[in-house]
Amino acid sequence: MVETKKYIASIYQLTCERDEYQPEFLQAVKEFLDTIEPALDKHPEWIDQNILGRILEPEKILQFRVPWVTDEGKAEVNRGFRVQFNSAIGPYKGGLRFHPTVNQSIIKFLGFEQIFKNSLTGLPIGGGKGGSDFNPKGKSDAEIMRFCQSFMTELQKYIGPDIDVPAGDIGVGAREIGYLFGQYKRLNGFQNGVLTGKPLLYGGSLGRTEATGYGLVYFTKAMIEDAGKSFKGQKVMVSGSGNVAQYAIEKVTAFGGTVIGCSDSNGYIIDEKGIRLETIKHLKEVKRERIKEYAEIHREANYYEGNIWDHEIAFDIALPCATQNEIMKEQAEKLIAQGVFAVAEGANMPSDLDSIQLYKKAGLLYGPAKAANAGGVAVSALEMSQNSQRLSWSFEEVDSQLKEIMQQIYQKVRDTAAQYGYPGDFTLGANIAGFEKVAQAMLTQGII
Ligand code: GLU
Repeated sequence: MVETKKYIASIYQLTCERDEYQPEFLQAVKEFLDTIEPALDKHPEWIDQNILGRILEPEKILQFRVPWVTDEGKAEVNRGFRVQFNSAIGPYKGGLRFHPTVNQSIIKFLGFEQIFKNSLTGLPIGGGKGGSDFNPKGKSDAEIMRFCQSFMTELQKYIGPDIDVPAGDIGVGAREIGYLFGQYKRLNGFQNGVLTGKPLLYGGSLGRTEATGYGLVYFTKAMIEDAGKSFKGQKVMVSGSGNVAQYAIEKVTAFGGTVIGCSDSNGYIIDEKGIRLETIKHLKEVKRERIKEYAEIHREANYYEGNIWDHEIAFDIALPCATQNEIMKEQAEKLIAQGVFAVAEGANMPSDLDSIQLYKKAGLLYGPAKAANAGGVAVSALEMSQNSQRLSWSFEEVDSQLKEIMQQIYQKVRDTAAQYGYPGDFTLGANIAGFEKVAQAMLTQGII
Protein backbone atom coordinates (compact mmCIF):
# COMPACT_ATOMS: atom_id res chain seq x y z
CA MET A 1 0.00 0.00 0.00
CA VAL A 2 1.12 3.51 -0.78
CA GLU A 3 0.84 4.68 2.85
CA THR A 4 2.95 1.78 4.11
CA LYS A 5 5.59 2.34 1.43
CA LYS A 6 5.78 6.03 2.34
CA TYR A 7 6.08 5.25 6.03
CA ILE A 8 8.91 2.75 5.48
CA ALA A 9 10.72 5.14 3.12
CA SER A 10 10.47 7.99 5.63
CA ILE A 11 11.84 5.79 8.43
CA TYR A 12 14.75 4.71 6.24
CA GLN A 13 15.45 8.29 5.22
CA LEU A 14 15.53 9.41 8.85
CA THR A 15 17.87 6.58 9.81
CA CYS A 16 20.21 7.44 6.93
CA GLU A 17 20.33 11.06 8.09
CA ARG A 18 20.91 10.18 11.72
CA ASP A 19 23.36 7.35 11.17
CA GLU A 20 25.05 8.54 8.00
CA TYR A 21 28.43 7.18 9.10
CA GLN A 22 27.22 3.74 10.16
CA PRO A 23 27.29 1.69 6.93
CA GLU A 24 26.93 -1.76 8.52
CA PHE A 25 23.98 -0.65 10.62
CA LEU A 26 22.30 0.95 7.59
CA GLN A 27 22.87 -2.25 5.61
CA ALA A 28 21.16 -4.38 8.26
CA VAL A 29 18.30 -1.86 8.49
CA LYS A 30 17.82 -1.81 4.72
CA GLU A 31 17.78 -5.60 4.49
CA PHE A 32 15.05 -5.61 7.15
CA LEU A 33 12.95 -2.71 5.83
CA ASP A 34 12.99 -4.08 2.27
CA THR A 35 10.95 -7.09 3.45
CA ILE A 36 8.63 -5.69 6.06
CA GLU A 37 5.88 -4.03 4.01
CA PRO A 38 3.44 -6.99 3.95
CA ALA A 39 3.52 -7.20 7.77
CA LEU A 40 2.72 -3.50 8.16
CA ASP A 41 -0.09 -3.74 5.59
CA LYS A 42 -1.63 -6.38 7.81
CA HIS A 43 -1.08 -4.37 11.01
CA PRO A 44 -1.81 -0.66 10.41
CA GLU A 45 -1.72 -0.17 14.20
CA TRP A 46 2.03 -0.76 14.05
CA ILE A 47 2.30 2.26 11.78
CA ASP A 48 0.02 4.34 14.03
CA GLN A 49 2.21 3.50 17.02
CA ASN A 50 5.41 4.09 15.02
CA ILE A 51 6.81 0.67 15.90
CA LEU A 52 9.50 0.90 13.17
CA GLY A 53 10.72 4.29 14.33
CA ARG A 54 10.99 2.97 17.86
CA ILE A 55 12.52 -0.43 17.07
CA LEU A 56 15.33 1.18 15.03
CA GLU A 57 16.44 3.27 17.98
CA PRO A 58 18.42 1.32 20.62
CA GLU A 59 16.99 1.65 24.12
CA LYS A 60 20.48 2.52 25.37
CA ILE A 61 24.03 2.75 23.97
CA LEU A 62 27.01 2.60 26.28
CA GLN A 63 30.49 3.56 25.19
CA PHE A 64 33.34 3.52 27.67
CA ARG A 65 37.09 3.78 28.04
CA VAL A 66 38.95 0.53 28.67
CA PRO A 67 42.45 1.28 29.97
CA TRP A 68 44.86 -1.62 30.51
CA VAL A 69 48.58 -2.25 30.97
CA THR A 70 50.78 -4.32 28.61
CA ASP A 71 53.36 -6.82 29.85
CA GLU A 72 55.98 -4.13 29.21
CA GLY A 73 54.15 -1.72 31.53
CA LYS A 74 52.74 0.50 28.78
CA ALA A 75 49.28 2.04 29.29
CA GLU A 76 46.90 1.21 26.42
CA VAL A 77 43.33 2.39 25.84
CA ASN A 78 40.54 0.71 23.91
CA ARG A 79 36.90 1.50 23.36
CA GLY A 80 34.20 -0.60 24.99
CA PHE A 81 30.59 -0.76 23.80
CA ARG A 82 27.28 -2.26 24.85
CA VAL A 83 24.15 -1.62 22.85
CA GLN A 84 20.98 -2.52 24.76
CA PHE A 85 18.76 -2.58 21.72
CA ASN A 86 15.37 -3.98 22.62
CA SER A 87 13.91 -5.55 25.78
CA ALA A 88 10.29 -6.01 24.65
CA ILE A 89 10.36 -9.80 25.05
CA GLY A 90 13.14 -10.35 27.59
CA PRO A 91 16.42 -9.12 29.06
CA TYR A 92 18.98 -7.88 26.53
CA LYS A 93 20.91 -10.87 25.22
CA GLY A 94 23.82 -11.05 22.82
CA GLY A 95 27.54 -11.58 22.57
CA LEU A 96 30.65 -9.48 23.02
CA ARG A 97 33.03 -9.10 20.09
CA PHE A 98 36.71 -8.21 20.55
CA HIS A 99 38.12 -7.29 17.15
CA PRO A 100 39.97 -4.24 15.76
CA THR A 101 37.09 -3.49 13.35
CA VAL A 102 34.58 -3.00 16.19
CA ASN A 103 32.89 0.41 16.31
CA GLN A 104 29.41 1.67 17.05
CA SER A 105 28.12 0.79 13.58
CA ILE A 106 29.23 -2.83 13.86
CA ILE A 107 27.79 -3.27 17.35
CA LYS A 108 24.51 -1.64 16.31
CA PHE A 109 24.10 -3.87 13.26
CA LEU A 110 24.80 -6.94 15.38
CA GLY A 111 22.44 -5.78 18.13
CA PHE A 112 19.70 -5.02 15.62
CA GLU A 113 19.96 -8.50 14.05
CA GLN A 114 19.99 -10.02 17.51
CA ILE A 115 16.48 -8.66 18.28
CA PHE A 116 14.89 -10.75 15.52
CA LYS A 117 17.20 -13.75 15.89
CA ASN A 118 16.41 -14.00 19.58
CA SER A 119 12.70 -13.64 18.91
CA LEU A 120 12.86 -16.46 16.33
CA THR A 121 14.24 -18.87 18.95
CA GLY A 122 10.84 -18.69 20.68
CA LEU A 123 12.60 -18.04 24.00
CA PRO A 124 12.15 -14.93 26.17
CA ILE A 125 15.26 -12.92 25.29
CA GLY A 126 15.65 -9.36 24.03
CA GLY A 127 18.40 -8.04 21.77
CA GLY A 128 21.79 -6.59 22.67
CA LYS A 129 25.44 -6.71 21.65
CA GLY A 130 28.75 -5.34 22.82
CA GLY A 131 32.47 -5.51 22.42
CA SER A 132 35.66 -3.62 21.93
CA ASP A 133 38.18 -2.67 19.25
CA PHE A 134 40.77 -4.56 21.34
CA ASN A 135 42.70 -7.11 19.27
CA PRO A 136 43.34 -10.31 21.26
CA LYS A 137 45.69 -11.65 18.55
CA GLY A 138 49.27 -11.83 19.74
CA LYS A 139 48.43 -10.76 23.31
CA SER A 140 49.66 -12.77 26.29
CA ASP A 141 47.22 -14.49 28.65
CA ALA A 142 48.03 -11.91 31.32
CA GLU A 143 47.26 -9.05 28.93
CA ILE A 144 43.94 -10.65 27.94
CA MET A 145 43.10 -11.03 31.63
CA ARG A 146 43.89 -7.41 32.47
CA PHE A 147 41.91 -6.19 29.49
CA CYS A 148 38.86 -8.33 30.40
CA GLN A 149 39.02 -7.15 34.01
CA SER A 150 39.11 -3.52 32.97
CA PHE A 151 36.28 -4.02 30.44
CA MET A 152 34.06 -5.70 33.04
CA THR A 153 34.82 -3.13 35.74
CA GLU A 154 32.73 -0.68 33.71
CA LEU A 155 30.26 -3.06 32.06
CA GLN A 156 29.18 -4.68 35.35
CA LYS A 157 27.25 -1.55 36.30
CA TYR A 158 24.79 -2.18 33.49
CA ILE A 159 24.26 -5.96 33.32
CA GLY A 160 22.64 -8.68 35.44
CA PRO A 161 20.87 -12.05 35.06
CA ASP A 162 17.48 -10.36 34.49
CA ILE A 163 18.76 -7.16 32.85
CA ASP A 164 21.39 -7.88 30.24
CA VAL A 165 23.25 -11.16 29.72
CA PRO A 166 26.36 -11.00 27.49
CA ALA A 167 28.13 -14.01 25.96
CA GLY A 168 30.91 -14.60 23.43
CA ASP A 169 31.30 -13.68 19.76
CA ILE A 170 34.41 -13.21 17.57
CA GLY A 171 37.48 -12.93 19.84
CA VAL A 172 35.58 -13.85 22.99
CA GLY A 173 35.70 -17.55 23.85
CA ALA A 174 35.92 -19.64 27.03
CA ARG A 175 39.13 -17.94 28.20
CA GLU A 176 37.73 -14.40 27.94
CA ILE A 177 34.36 -15.40 29.44
CA GLY A 178 36.28 -16.84 32.41
CA TYR A 179 38.19 -13.60 33.07
CA LEU A 180 35.06 -11.48 32.56
CA PHE A 181 33.07 -13.68 34.93
CA GLY A 182 35.83 -13.59 37.56
CA GLN A 183 35.83 -9.81 37.59
CA TYR A 184 32.02 -9.60 37.71
CA LYS A 185 32.02 -11.99 40.67
CA ARG A 186 34.70 -10.04 42.49
CA LEU A 187 32.58 -6.88 42.28
CA ASN A 188 29.07 -8.32 42.72
CA GLY A 189 29.31 -11.83 44.17
CA PHE A 190 28.60 -15.10 42.42
CA GLN A 191 25.63 -14.76 40.03
CA ASN A 192 26.07 -17.39 37.39
CA GLY A 193 23.21 -16.15 35.18
CA VAL A 194 25.04 -12.93 34.29
CA LEU A 195 27.01 -14.39 31.38
CA THR A 196 26.45 -17.39 29.13
CA GLY A 197 28.97 -19.52 27.32
CA LYS A 198 30.57 -20.22 30.72
CA PRO A 199 32.74 -23.28 31.26
CA LEU A 200 30.91 -26.31 32.70
CA LEU A 201 32.76 -25.90 35.99
CA TYR A 202 30.55 -23.05 37.19
CA GLY A 203 27.19 -23.10 35.46
CA GLY A 204 27.95 -23.47 31.77
CA SER A 205 25.69 -25.62 29.64
CA LEU A 206 26.70 -28.80 27.91
CA GLY A 207 26.29 -28.29 24.17
CA ARG A 208 26.76 -24.48 24.23
CA THR A 209 30.18 -24.66 22.54
CA GLU A 210 28.77 -26.77 19.72
CA ALA A 211 25.44 -24.95 19.48
CA THR A 212 25.94 -22.34 16.72
CA GLY A 213 27.70 -24.73 14.33
CA TYR A 214 25.41 -27.70 15.03
CA GLY A 215 22.35 -25.43 14.90
CA LEU A 216 23.42 -24.06 11.52
CA VAL A 217 23.64 -27.57 10.12
CA TYR A 218 20.30 -28.63 11.68
CA PHE A 219 18.68 -25.59 10.04
CA THR A 220 20.35 -26.29 6.69
CA LYS A 221 19.35 -29.95 6.85
CA ALA A 222 15.69 -29.01 7.38
CA MET A 223 15.90 -26.49 4.53
CA ILE A 224 17.52 -28.81 1.97
CA GLU A 225 15.40 -31.83 2.95
CA ASP A 226 12.30 -29.77 2.31
CA ALA A 227 13.65 -29.36 -1.24
CA GLY A 228 14.20 -33.11 -1.56
CA LYS A 229 17.98 -33.08 -0.94
CA SER A 230 20.29 -34.25 1.82
CA PHE A 231 23.88 -33.72 3.00
CA LYS A 232 24.92 -37.18 1.76
CA GLY A 233 27.60 -36.89 -0.89
CA GLN A 234 27.45 -33.09 -1.03
CA LYS A 235 30.58 -30.97 -1.25
CA VAL A 236 30.41 -28.19 1.32
CA MET A 237 32.56 -25.08 1.69
CA VAL A 238 32.80 -23.50 5.14
CA SER A 239 34.51 -20.17 5.73
CA GLY A 240 36.14 -19.39 9.05
CA SER A 241 37.82 -21.86 11.40
CA GLY A 242 36.62 -20.65 14.79
CA ASN A 243 33.95 -22.02 17.03
CA VAL A 244 31.05 -21.79 14.56
CA ALA A 245 32.99 -23.24 11.60
CA GLN A 246 34.50 -26.10 13.63
CA TYR A 247 31.20 -27.52 14.81
CA ALA A 248 29.55 -26.93 11.45
CA ILE A 249 32.35 -29.01 9.88
CA GLU A 250 31.80 -31.75 12.46
CA LYS A 251 28.04 -31.97 11.88
CA VAL A 252 28.19 -31.78 8.07
CA THR A 253 30.69 -34.63 8.12
CA ALA A 254 28.47 -36.65 10.49
CA PHE A 255 25.56 -36.19 8.07
CA GLY A 256 27.61 -37.59 5.19
CA GLY A 257 28.78 -34.39 3.49
CA THR A 258 32.41 -33.55 2.67
CA VAL A 259 33.77 -30.20 3.80
CA ILE A 260 36.39 -29.33 1.19
CA GLY A 261 37.63 -26.02 2.57
CA CYS A 262 37.81 -23.59 5.48
CA SER A 263 39.63 -20.34 6.16
CA ASP A 264 41.04 -17.74 8.55
CA SER A 265 41.52 -14.01 8.07
CA ASN A 266 44.74 -14.52 6.05
CA GLY A 267 43.79 -17.31 3.68
CA TYR A 268 42.20 -20.71 3.22
CA ILE A 269 42.88 -24.38 2.75
CA ILE A 270 41.32 -26.74 0.26
CA ASP A 271 41.37 -30.44 1.12
CA GLU A 272 39.18 -32.34 -1.29
CA LYS A 273 39.39 -35.50 0.81
CA GLY A 274 37.59 -33.67 3.60
CA ILE A 275 38.90 -31.25 6.21
CA ARG A 276 40.40 -33.05 9.23
CA LEU A 277 38.73 -31.28 12.12
CA GLU A 278 41.21 -32.53 14.75
CA THR A 279 44.01 -30.69 12.95
CA ILE A 280 42.01 -27.46 12.78
CA LYS A 281 41.10 -27.71 16.46
CA HIS A 282 44.70 -28.38 17.45
CA LEU A 283 46.02 -25.46 15.41
CA LYS A 284 43.37 -22.97 16.52
CA GLU A 285 42.63 -23.92 20.11
CA VAL A 286 45.86 -25.44 21.41
CA LYS A 287 48.58 -23.71 19.39
CA ARG A 288 46.60 -20.55 18.44
CA GLU A 289 48.27 -20.78 15.03
CA ARG A 290 47.20 -19.81 11.50
CA ILE A 291 45.49 -22.52 9.42
CA LYS A 292 48.31 -22.22 6.87
CA GLU A 293 50.05 -24.88 8.99
CA TYR A 294 47.35 -27.39 7.98
CA ALA A 295 48.89 -27.76 4.52
CA GLU A 296 52.27 -28.58 6.12
CA ILE A 297 50.70 -31.37 8.13
CA HIS A 298 48.44 -32.77 5.38
CA ARG A 299 50.46 -32.67 2.17
CA GLU A 300 47.48 -33.31 -0.14
CA ALA A 301 45.84 -30.06 1.03
CA ASN A 302 46.69 -26.66 -0.44
CA TYR A 303 46.89 -23.28 1.22
CA TYR A 304 45.99 -20.05 -0.61
CA GLU A 305 46.04 -16.44 0.48
CA GLY A 306 42.86 -14.38 0.05
CA ASN A 307 39.11 -14.90 0.26
CA ILE A 308 37.91 -18.51 0.16
CA TRP A 309 34.84 -17.47 -1.86
CA ASP A 310 37.12 -16.41 -4.72
CA HIS A 311 38.39 -19.96 -5.17
CA GLU A 312 37.27 -21.63 -8.40
CA ILE A 313 36.01 -25.11 -7.62
CA ALA A 314 32.65 -26.84 -8.01
CA PHE A 315 30.71 -27.49 -4.82
CA ASP A 316 27.11 -27.71 -3.59
CA ILE A 317 26.53 -25.92 -0.30
CA ALA A 318 28.12 -22.74 1.09
CA LEU A 319 28.23 -22.11 4.83
CA PRO A 320 29.83 -18.69 5.45
CA CYS A 321 30.95 -18.75 9.11
CA ALA A 322 33.62 -16.01 9.20
CA THR A 323 32.36 -12.42 9.36
CA GLN A 324 30.18 -9.67 7.88
CA ASN A 325 30.28 -8.98 4.13
CA GLU A 326 32.66 -11.82 3.31
CA ILE A 327 30.48 -12.54 0.26
CA MET A 328 29.98 -9.57 -2.05
CA LYS A 329 28.52 -9.45 -5.54
CA GLU A 330 31.59 -10.89 -7.26
CA GLN A 331 31.82 -13.86 -4.87
CA ALA A 332 28.06 -14.50 -5.04
CA GLU A 333 28.26 -14.62 -8.85
CA LYS A 334 31.09 -17.12 -8.56
CA LEU A 335 29.16 -19.34 -6.12
CA ILE A 336 26.19 -19.47 -8.43
CA ALA A 337 28.36 -20.18 -11.49
CA GLN A 338 30.07 -23.00 -9.58
CA GLY A 339 26.77 -24.79 -9.03
CA VAL A 340 26.04 -24.02 -5.38
CA PHE A 341 22.35 -24.72 -4.60
CA ALA A 342 22.18 -23.64 -0.93
CA VAL A 343 23.75 -20.92 1.21
CA ALA A 344 23.18 -20.81 4.97
CA GLU A 345 24.83 -18.24 7.19
CA GLY A 346 26.77 -19.14 10.35
CA ALA A 347 28.29 -15.65 10.60
CA ASN A 348 26.24 -12.49 11.09
CA MET A 349 25.44 -10.69 7.79
CA PRO A 350 28.14 -12.50 5.75
CA SER A 351 26.35 -11.71 2.47
CA ASP A 352 25.93 -8.11 1.31
CA LEU A 353 22.68 -6.79 -0.14
CA ASP A 354 23.69 -7.45 -3.77
CA SER A 355 24.54 -11.06 -2.99
CA ILE A 356 21.16 -11.68 -1.37
CA GLN A 357 19.47 -10.35 -4.51
CA LEU A 358 21.60 -12.63 -6.67
CA TYR A 359 20.75 -15.72 -4.55
CA LYS A 360 17.09 -14.85 -4.93
CA LYS A 361 17.32 -14.36 -8.69
CA ALA A 362 19.17 -17.64 -9.13
CA GLY A 363 16.59 -19.50 -7.00
CA LEU A 364 19.11 -20.67 -4.38
CA LEU A 365 17.96 -22.00 -1.04
CA TYR A 366 19.08 -19.23 1.28
CA GLY A 367 19.10 -19.42 5.08
CA PRO A 368 19.67 -15.88 6.41
CA ALA A 369 21.89 -15.44 9.48
CA LYS A 370 19.23 -14.41 11.95
CA ALA A 371 17.48 -17.72 11.41
CA ALA A 372 20.34 -20.06 10.50
CA ASN A 373 22.78 -19.12 13.27
CA ALA A 374 20.26 -18.71 16.09
CA GLY A 375 21.36 -21.98 17.70
CA GLY A 376 24.12 -20.32 19.73
CA VAL A 377 21.91 -17.80 21.44
CA ALA A 378 19.14 -20.40 21.80
CA VAL A 379 21.40 -22.63 23.88
CA SER A 380 22.54 -19.52 25.77
CA ALA A 381 18.89 -19.09 26.76
CA LEU A 382 18.82 -22.76 27.81
CA GLU A 383 21.93 -22.05 29.90
CA MET A 384 20.02 -19.20 31.60
CA SER A 385 17.15 -21.61 32.35
CA GLN A 386 19.52 -24.15 33.86
CA ASN A 387 21.18 -21.42 35.95
CA SER A 388 17.80 -20.29 37.32
CA GLN A 389 16.87 -23.86 38.13
CA ARG A 390 20.29 -24.58 39.66
CA LEU A 391 20.39 -27.69 37.49
CA SER A 392 22.40 -28.92 34.56
CA TRP A 393 20.89 -30.90 31.76
CA SER A 394 22.63 -33.70 29.86
CA PHE A 395 24.26 -33.10 26.48
CA GLU A 396 21.55 -35.21 24.84
CA GLU A 397 18.80 -33.13 26.42
CA VAL A 398 20.33 -29.83 25.25
CA ASP A 399 21.16 -31.15 21.79
CA SER A 400 17.66 -32.50 21.24
CA GLN A 401 16.14 -29.16 22.31
CA LEU A 402 18.53 -27.37 19.95
CA LYS A 403 17.51 -29.64 17.07
CA GLU A 404 13.83 -29.02 17.82
CA ILE A 405 14.35 -25.23 18.04
CA MET A 406 16.22 -25.08 14.70
CA GLN A 407 13.56 -27.17 12.96
CA GLN A 408 10.87 -24.92 14.38
CA ILE A 409 12.73 -21.81 13.24
CA TYR A 410 12.96 -23.22 9.73
CA GLN A 411 9.24 -24.06 9.67
CA LYS A 412 8.28 -20.66 11.07
CA VAL A 413 10.41 -18.87 8.47
CA ARG A 414 9.09 -21.00 5.61
CA ASP A 415 5.45 -20.77 6.69
CA THR A 416 5.59 -17.01 7.32
CA ALA A 417 7.05 -16.42 3.85
CA ALA A 418 4.30 -18.55 2.28
CA GLN A 419 1.54 -17.03 4.39
CA TYR A 420 2.46 -13.53 3.22
CA GLY A 421 2.52 -14.65 -0.40
CA TYR A 422 6.30 -14.94 -0.89
CA PRO A 423 6.98 -18.70 -0.72
CA GLY A 424 10.70 -19.50 -0.62
CA ASP A 425 11.73 -15.98 0.41
CA PHE A 426 13.32 -16.91 3.71
CA THR A 427 14.76 -13.42 4.23
CA LEU A 428 11.23 -12.05 4.30
CA GLY A 429 10.03 -15.01 6.38
CA ALA A 430 12.75 -14.57 9.01
CA ASN A 431 12.38 -10.81 9.26
CA ILE A 432 8.61 -10.84 9.55
CA ALA A 433 8.40 -13.86 11.88
CA GLY A 434 11.05 -12.34 14.18
CA PHE A 435 9.50 -8.89 14.02
CA GLU A 436 5.84 -9.89 14.64
CA LYS A 437 6.41 -11.07 18.19
CA VAL A 438 8.53 -8.07 19.17
CA ALA A 439 6.13 -5.57 17.56
CA GLN A 440 3.16 -7.17 19.29
CA ALA A 441 4.96 -7.07 22.65
CA MET A 442 5.95 -3.42 22.13
CA LEU A 443 2.37 -2.53 21.31
CA THR A 444 1.04 -4.04 24.51
CA GLN A 445 3.66 -2.25 26.64
CA GLY A 446 2.65 1.28 25.59
CA ILE A 447 4.82 4.05 24.15
CA ILE A 448 8.13 3.47 25.93
N1 GLU B 1 27.34 -14.21 19.50
C1 GLU B 1 26.31 -15.16 19.25
C2 GLU B 1 25.32 -14.62 18.24
O1 GLU B 1 25.69 -13.88 17.36
C3 GLU B 1 25.68 -15.70 20.52
C4 GLU B 1 25.10 -14.70 21.46
C5 GLU B 1 24.69 -15.27 22.83
O2 GLU B 1 24.86 -16.45 23.06
O3 GLU B 1 24.19 -14.47 23.62
O4 GLU B 1 24.15 -14.93 18.25
